[in-house]
Amino acid sequence: MTQKEIFNIFYRSGALHTGHFKLTSGLHSDQYFQCALVLQHPRYAEQLCSIAKEYFGGEQPETVIAPAVGGIVVGQEIARILGCRSIFAERKDGQMTLRRGFSLRKGERVLVCEDVVTTGGSVKEVIELAQQAGAHVIGVFAVVDRSGGGANFGVPFLAAMQMQVKTYPPESCPLCAQDLPIDQPGSRQL
Ligand SMILES: [Zn+2]
Repeated sequence: MTQKEIFNIFYRSGALHTGHFKLTSGLHSDQYFQCALVLQHPRYAEQLCSIAKEYFGGEQPETVIAPAVGGIVVGQEIARILGCRSIFAERKDGQMTLRRGFSLRKGERVLVCEDVVTTGGSVKEVIELAQQAGAHVIGVFAVVDRSGGGANFGVPFLAAMQMQVKTYPPESCPLCAQDLPIDQPGSRQL
């Protein structure tokens, strides 16, 4: 898939909006992206996750692991395409952990998957969790990389799409200066 085809999928699914937005960080932006709106369509999820197979399939991952919540759909779909196992890590008392009886064994070949990488913090924690269990992390796949090249995991990292978003502090926001009404989509409450 070309970057243009991927962008078209994002637009068609209503995941990518332009306008004037207040992000959860408090910063303003002219763009808002909600990955779940792409992944709600299994056909789109399949198309995007197939990119992970092209890149990492040769490494023969045995298990896909994702940070909850956003990464779970991505991990499940990639595991389906690869014909391997899918598990996820979730926070307990602020700490990323394996629950629900999930486990990893020594030397297990693991691919870490996420929907959107912003700072990469959750992915880093999942990598550490897998490595502490003795698993071999072969790489990281994300649908969207918004880190602007800043995410470095110490293993190969591939994102289907690089998405740089311009953000502004409210006091110097050019959209506020034009008196454009502002939306506050999304939430981090989950
Ligand atoms: Zn503004």
